[in-house]
Amino acid sequence: MSVKPIKKSHKLDNVCYDIRGPVMQKANQMEAEGARIIKLNIGNLAAFNFTVPEEMEQDLAKNLPNAAGYTDSKGIFGARKAIMHYTQQKRIKGVTLDDIIIGNGVSELIGFAMHALLNVGDEVLIPMPDYPLWTAATTLAGGTPVHYLCDEDNEWNPSIEDIKSKITSNTKAIVVINPNNPTGALYSDEILQQIVDIAREHNLVVMADEIYDRVLYDGHSHTSVASLADDVFFVTMNGLSKNYRACGYRAGWMVLSGAKESASGYIEGLVMLASMRLCANAPGQHTIQTALGGYQSIDDLVAPTGRLARQRDLAYQLISEIPGVSCVKPKAAMYLFPRLDPKVYPIEDDQSFVLEFLEKEKVLVVQGTGFNWHAHDHLRFVFLPIEDELREAIGRFAKFLKDYRER
Ligand code: PLP
Repeated sequence: MSVKPIKKSHKLDNVCYDIRGPVMQKANQMEAEGARIIKLNIGNLAAFNFTVPEEMEQDLAKNLPNAAGYTDSKGIFGARKAIMHYTQQKRIKGVTLDDIIIGNGVSELIGFAMHALLNVGDEVLIPMPDYPLWTAATTLAGGTPVHYLCDEDNEWNPSIEDIKSKITSNTKAIVVINPNNPTGALYSDEILQQIVDIAREHNLVVMADEIYDRVLYDGHSHTSVASLADDVFFVTMNGLSKNYRACGYRAGWMVLSGAKESASGYIEGLVMLASMRLCANAPGQHTIQTALGGYQSIDDLVAPTGRLARQRDLAYQLISEIPGVSCVKPKAAMYLFPRLDPKVYPIEDDQSFVLEFLEKEKVLVVQGTGFNWHAHDHLRFVFLPIEDELREAIGRFAKFLKDYRER
């Protein structure tokens, strides 16, 4: 008797998340066979010996006995209060406890944001390149991702012209990832204001992913796009994964602000989705108040002599020295997104290119198309390893490219 194959649903047909896709699976297989691979593919700070602030760890342990039950679906009071205060520091007006939903990381909330809003055929403007979960979640929710260009020649700022040209009567929302993964860009207030003006004119929800808002170099400061208007509806996301090096705590939040009255139906949908999954991971929630209230952030690491700043400088310098490779220096986050000049490196398929680099040099990076970039000419490097390891990894990259040029 033949067995009927069990297939994945059609809902997943066009859903891609290449950061943990075939290239990572290949690396896992190579490791299982004994290879030692330098992994520059995932922004997971703990894997590179960045530690969670001690007070957060202590609070996690201390609160464990209180964390066995379900919590309010929106999250525990103390955590939401601290998030509310954080919105005040970021000058986002009028946020009450009721406007905050805590989730199992921003990842879960990105899904909520899309599922609660989109009907089949609705379009969402998403940056290109993007953090690919935004595109994947839009597609999974039945929407259509429409990518707007971020301009490498203008420090990877969003192209306002391109955004305007892509708005249709079906456009429902615009996603703003600032600071940006994968480019490390930090958008100017002028650009943010122009995006807000477009959202107002076309009645778009602004979905702001600000998870790197404290991972800022060179004394830069961050403006929350939601602080720029009261008459546009904003969903702002943030969490503990990056600013507090606590990816595994799975604690993120969404803040609803601005034109809330006009979005009451959508908010009802968000609350319904939060209720259906009962609550977010309770132990993680118990560390949010400490994280946001104390001297806990990433400030020391991003200061000019801090570990992250030094690693950024080194990685940027070494990558920029390679012939035919150029890179915009990141102002924020923990990634470099260099360009390989197609005249020097005529790459036809960047995934195959990354696989070949992995197999030959045992270094794992992610191909630019994995971030919905339109051409096969970019790669993303995480600069989380210590300086010696970065030197080794980028040295191997330079060697790989030299061999490529001499083919
Ligand atoms: N948003 C961006 C821009 C990210 O880079 C990441 C993780 O790398 C996430 C969201 C996911 O965050 P979380 O760990 O809170 O789910």
